[in-house]
Amino acid sequence: MTNSSASITVVGGGLAGLTAAIAAAETGAPVTLHEAHRTLGGRGRATPPPYVAHDGAHVFYADGPDYRWLAERGFVKGLGWPAPAALAGLGFRVGGRVRRLPPIGMLRAQARFRLTAPVDQDFHTWASGRWGEATARHMANAISVVTYDADTGRLSAAFVWDLCQRVFGLRPPAVRWVRGGWQTVLDRMAARAAELGVRIETGARVDALPENGPVIVATDLASAGRLLGVDDLSWTSGHCALLDIAVRSRRGDRTVVFDLDEGGFHESYTMQDDSIAPAGESLYQLQMPVRSGEPHAQAHQRLSAFADLLLPGWTDRVTFQRTAVAKGRTGALDLPGQTWRDRPAIDRGDGVYLVGDMVAAPGMRGEISINSAVAATRLATRAAGRVGQRS
Ligand SMILES: Cc1cc2nc3c(=O)[nH]c(=O)nc-3n(C[C@H](O)[C@H](O)[C@H](O)COP(=O)(O)OP(=O)(O)OC[C@H]3O[C@@H](n4cnc5c(N)ncnc54)[C@H](O)[C@@H]3O)c2cc1C
Repeated sequence: MTNSSASITVVGGGLAGLTAAIAAAETGAPVTLHEAHRTLGGRGRATPPPYVAHDGAHVFYADGPDYRWLAERGFVKGLGWPAPAALAGLGFRVGGRVRRLPPIGMLRAQARFRLTAPVDQDFHTWASGRWGEATARHMANAISVVTYDADTGRLSAAFVWDLCQRVFGLRPPAVRWVRGGWQTVLDRMAARAAELGVRIETGARVDALPENGPVIVATDLASAGRLLGVDDLSWTSGHCALLDIAVRSRRGDRTVVFDLDEGGFHESYTMQDDSIAPAGESLYQLQMPVRSGEPHAQAHQRLSAFADLLLPGWTDRVTFQRTAVAKGRTGALDLPGQTWRDRPAIDRGDGVYLVGDMVAAPGMRGEISINSAVAATRLATRAAGRVGQRS
């Protein structure tokens, strides 16, 4: 354990900032966390009960170091599991119809788990060369569930193939839902940070970096660029329309549908957690990637049509509804020629560290936030032992 004296400042109180604050405080370093918003949690926040709808983030994957970090601290306990009956509502939209299984071409391609894909080539070119146009398109649209991109085929083949294997691979499913959702996890993290003595200031936007001690910047890239005085801090991310709806439950409603036609996704979150909507109701989030140049209203229309197919008559049964657009908020995507190592660096020099889901750390979406925060904290606590005043 490092027993550092220089105080560590964390800017941003989302998943990354809370991870950094906890990891730093665990070493004995004094830590102050500043969050611009009135409440902690960032993009992990959810609406208050009775309808607990998330900005987006719902799931964790249990096969990475980020999950171990959360699990070791008891943040991801109390998991919810779908009832077997709910799995009857699983499906794939192909050619405008929902079917039980994905096309055989996709299953065959998925089974080639020993294959490695090139970093330098786009996924569509690589996959269509092996399995044909249709399978390449189906796979890209299926994995849009985690890219939120209308043209996942343009991304690096290695990046997309890796995601396909993690999400649809032959290993036992690693997806996990915590009862109460991400808000519960973030509340536990905030409580732990306070217990460890982290000074937490909310409603406290930071406009300039403090002069003393290491600083971990855990904001979105635009905010970080302003704080670091860097103009071109950017990376590719997704763009999608979102629809949260609660409806009075009806037999035959679809619970999970991957949209191999347009890259949409539909999931019931009450199938594994009945605490997030009133009894007798089901809460869903549907997503539809926005096409290049497409007006948001049109993407929302496509999303609505998708909902019509999966939850017939939903507009007559709806009890809660909200729409949103997530642009640049769904985690880093790597284009051909790029890997996670090419993203904006964590160590900015001079005791300043950049963390979040768009920086140079492995994983997908929120995992990048946790992995980068743990890596930055290791560097910052080391620096805290020797850095008093930055030059
Ligand atoms: C639709 C959608 C679905 C998603 N699904 C998943 C999922 O299922 N699983 C998953 O792992 N991830 C998912 N994600 C991604 C996940 O939500 C994010 O990766 C994660 O929440 C990012 O956390 P963060 O702390 O890096 O950033 P944020 O949550 O954005 O936190 C940054 C914080 O910094 C604060 N801030 C900004 N500027 C300042 C400033 N100047 N001073 C002080 N504070 C400041 C902000 O207010 C904010 O609270 C999804 C995202 C979306 C949008």
